Amino acid sequence: MFTAIPSQNAYSKTKSLHHESFWLDNPARPTAKPPVSHDIEADLVVIGAGFTGLWSALEAAIENPHWKIVVLEGDRIAGGATGRNGGFVSATLTHGFSNGLSRWPSEMSELLRLGSQNLAELGSRIGELRIDCDWLVSGEIDVAVEDYQVQNLKRVHAEMKELGVASQYLTAEQTRVHVNSPIYQGALFNPDVAIVDPARLAWGLARELERLGVEIFEHSKAGELKDSGNFVRINVGVHCVKGRLVVLATNAYPPLLKRIKHLVVPVYDYVLVSEPLSSEQRASIGWLSREGVGDSGNQFHYYRITEDGRILFGGYDALYQGKAGVKPEFDTDLDSFARLADHFVQTFPQLADVNFTHGWGGAIDTCSRFSAFWGKAHGGKTVYVAGFTGLGVGASRFAALTSLDLLQGRVTPRTNLQMVKTKPLPFPPEPFRRWVIAWTIKSLQKADRESGKRNLWLRLLDSLGLGFDS
Ligand SMILES: Cc1cc2nc3c(=O)[nH]c(=O)nc-3n(C[C@H](O)[C@H](O)[C@H](O)COP(=O)(O)OP(=O)(O)OC[C@H]3O[C@@H](n4cnc5c(N)ncnc54)[C@H](O)[C@@H]3O)c2cc1C
Repeated sequence: MFTAIPSQNAYSKTKSLHHESFWLDNPARPTAKPPVSHDIEADLVVIGAGFTGLWSALEAAIENPHWKIVVLEGDRIAGGATGRNGGFVSATLTHGFSNGLSRWPSEMSELLRLGSQNLAELGSRIGELRIDCDWLVSGEIDVAVEDYQVQNLKRVHAEMKELGVASQYLTAEQTRVHVNSPIYQGALFNPDVAIVDPARLAWGLARELERLGVEIFEHSKAGELKDSGNFVRINVGVHCVKGRLVVLATNAYPPLLKRIKHLVVPVYDYVLVSEPLSSEQRASIGWLSREGVGDSGNQFHYYRITEDGRILFGGYDALYQGKAGVKPEFDTDLDSFARLADHFVQTFPQLADVNFTHGWGGAIDTCSRFSAFWGKAHGGKTVYVAGFTGLGVGASRFAALTSLDLLQGRVTPRTNLQMVKTKPLPFPPEPFRRWVIAWTIKSLQKADRESGKRNLWLRLLDSLGLGFDS
């Protein structure tokens, strides 16, 4: 359905993009906090100031006001995926309903309950802390752009109904009342999704942390971690930070523990943001309720309206850069930007004249089961969590609460989940990893071209509970 080779027009339309996340390109971005400049001892050290780290520190500080808590950030607050995402805040903890149902059918009701509770509490926290971050419970429309996708959405709708999930199936005409695209053939509306300005949310959480006495150090990259009796010692340059407890929230970045290395791979996802639409352009697409929208191929797009009336349009390509991992040069991919510009016009031909201002990429922590996993190290003093696979804006708060449960040895409905007790299957080592991922992406692209028909390789992966997604 969507063209693979970008047009010359798309290249020229995207050649003068500002290559920075639209969310981070904001005069309200706080100035950098100083790096670690002395040795420190703390009750809790959180490594990584993305959503996972910030929520871990915040929920710990609220629960334990007497704790000394320190956050170490190698770059800037929200400089990773947290400041670069689409800003969809989904209730799902399992990278979507279908993935959760296929992996944990017997605990799906509980996963749904905990996911909805997490979304509601996340919204309440934003309200209590008065964080101005354009939080809007808009719902999400998953659209079908091919006939076979209509059938898939109807099947998912029936499965959701059986579990009491309040979703609504929309015909093509009903879908176009929400958002007017000629390619829509039907949709599933999921009310349990919000949209947010992710950078403003992260900065608001950081501000609250400082108010509660939590110290955040930016440009403070944690090096080696060592177990030393009652503490974990963390090297930060020439200084030593000792934590009685540690949360590792480093997402797709090089893991600080060997055991995580085979469980997560960094996969790059790209995003465009348009100039603000004129009132005529906006009228031509409707979209008054600013719902998040996602299409339904293996290679999918996600799109939404920003507070100032631009369209953020991202997804489709998912690029694995091999051993090179996470590097600033991968934040820009001119082919991916041009492909997105073409797909934008294929989706909204009435907006062919709209220009784009920002284009950027970011690394997603893909794991083979597409949803977060947890583990302990250093005799239980360190807990790590990773593997959100591109759907962690909401799930990161649940992940933070679960990490704090595990660190303090608490048995809760969260720690009782099979999802929390088990880990994904590992990716093979290089050079096989590169080959396996490339072959899987090719197979997924072929399936998208052939009405969703999965080849032998994808069916083998399905039967093993393995996959590749973003
Ligand atoms: C382009 C893109 C679009 C996305 N869209 C969505 C979306 O719409 N909805 C959704 O739910 N999810 C989305 N995601 C995923 C989502 O952004 C993440 O799952 C979520 O932000 C998780 O945050 P995190 O804190 O785990 O990771 P990050 O935000 O990546 O934070 C990890 C932090 O750890 C720091 N760090 C790493 N190593 C060290 C070290 N050694 N020492 C100190 N600090 C270190 C990094 O600098 C970084 O700041 C998207 C991701 C991308 C890249």
